[in-house]
Amino acid sequence: MNIFHTKSDLKAYLDAHKTKNKQIGFVPTMGALHKGHLSLLEKCAQENDISVVSIFVNPTQFDNSDDLVKYPKTFEADVTLLEAANCDAIFAPSVQEIYPNNVAASPFDFEGLEHEMEGKFRQGHFNGVGTIVKTLFEIVQPHTAYFGQKDFQQLQIVKKMVQIQQLPVIIKGCKIHREKDGLAMSSRNSRLTDAHRKAAPVIFQILQEVKNKFKVDPVETIVKWVEKEFEKQPLLHLEYFTIADEKTLKNCEQKDPKIQYRAFIAVFAKEIRLIDNVRL
Ligand code: AMP
Repeated sequence: MNIFHTKSDLKAYLDAHKTKNKQIGFVPTMGALHKGHLSLLEKCAQENDISVVSIFVNPTQFDNSDDLVKYPKTFEADVTLLEAANCDAIFAPSVQEIYPNNVAASPFDFEGLEHEMEGKFRQGHFNGVGTIVKTLFEIVQPHTAYFGQKDFQQLQIVKKMVQIQQLPVIIKGCKIHREKDGLAMSSRNSRLTDAHRKAAPVIFQILQEVKNKFKVDPVETIVKWVEKEFEKQPLLHLEYFTIADEKTLKNCEQKDPKIQYRAFIAVFAKEIRLIDNVRL
């Protein structure tokens, strides 16, 4: 496995493979890797000749500076995991390498997807995501890139960017990898206190119950029920719960049988923000 810190070194390596018509797959991450990330890499390795994983904690997508400073960094452990998991190349650039002039996001138009859910609560987050994903695509120029449904809105936004800007890359969404107790795997889980970690699986339990209720109850009733359930949770604070159209991410008010819906949730466990979603 190769580790690159500069665009030029990575490019030289990839160019050599591209001239031999090798398929390049790409998994962008912020490191602190877990089995969720590895499941993306597994799919990538199955479908491509060369798998590239980037590890870069992108400062321009953080709306909260404390979250950025405290974001877990476990580079050595990440390298060990990737080595054992069919990764061919790690791209781990510095902030200077990615943002040589100005550490700032560019503005993006994602046709309204950016104004829903996460976009309402994390100012500028999706401009940061668009900026880094576009930059990494320009550097790696993969044939296919893999994103988790854990960040479903991000996945839809990346697909929208590729469509609008006609970028020559296929985007594949991968299913959410969960702990045995249902908690969606996340790099931030390692920052939970024992008590918050014990409380957190209720997020998925509630989402599963929402899936059942959605078959019979009106959306308004379900939203009220979720809010009530979180009132019983002293360690968890509900930021938002919404049932939305998978395509437009617009809130569902009246169920339409022609539309595929998904339930989305963001919860604070003390200062750690956890997100999750299920298809309905
Ligand atoms: P991150 O390092 O958190 O930016 O995540 C990198 C990629 O891994 C993103 O496409 C995420 O959606 C994906 N990912 C994170 N957690 C999970 C999970 N539990 N299951 C599947 N994919 C995940």
